Amino acid sequence: MESIQQGSARRILVVEDEPTIAESIAARLRAEGFTVELAHDGPAAVAAAASLLPDLVVLDVMLPGFDGLEVCRRIQAHRPVPVLMLTARTDETDVLIGLGVGADDYLTKPFSLRVLTARIHALLRRVERTATPGATIVVGDLRIDTDQRRVWRAEAETQLTPLEFELLVHLARRPRAVLARDRLLSEIWGWPDASGTRAVDSHIKALRRKLGSDLIRTVHGVGYALEAR
Ligand code: CA
Repeated sequence: MESIQQGSARRILVVEDEPTIAESIAARLRAEGFTVELAHDGPAAVAAAASLLPDLVVLDVMLPGFDGLEVCRRIQAHRPVPVLMLTARTDETDVLIGLGVGADDYLTKPFSLRVLTARIHALLRRVERTATPGATIVVGDLRIDTDQRRVWRAEAETQLTPLEFELLVHLARRPRAVLARDRLLSEIWGWPDASGTRAVDSHIKALRRKLGSDLIRTVHGVGYALEAR
């Protein structure tokens, strides 16, 4: 019975080179019922992500080997997975959001384990909510299969991260409607206040880079609207 329960538990890969931090995160997540695997450097993290196929990755930025940004790029290219990034300073978080590295959430050290687990549960809920079976959405030359989580523009398929996918689906369900940044933030990220609207901007930037700059229109001071041809 135990092996069945473990097999159905959601898997989290924790990538952190500081042993005491890594062990305390792992202990807390195991107590929450997750299966946890640890990696302590960049190359080991990429290998573990490929073999473990985690449901979520907690990823420290400063790592031996290569850093968390490179780890994030490599694992997202291989198989999209929600990533929660751990950063050393608030200004470092700002830089990462600006880069649009494909992480879905950020926590600045030091953080409480209670906040970390709350963010992890919220992230998993968001991804699972989008995964409910549904029809194909077609807007102009944009096609989204919400069941298989696949996206095409002009018949060319594009790989999106889980949060990029959810943001696109949100916009595409109401084409040409202007959706406010703080509304997108609360509906997709689950954040109650507007302090994280740059996270929305960063994911819009990534969607434009991947699907074409003409797809999403900026309505200055308000938000965004999807306008596929
Ligand atoms: Ca570190």
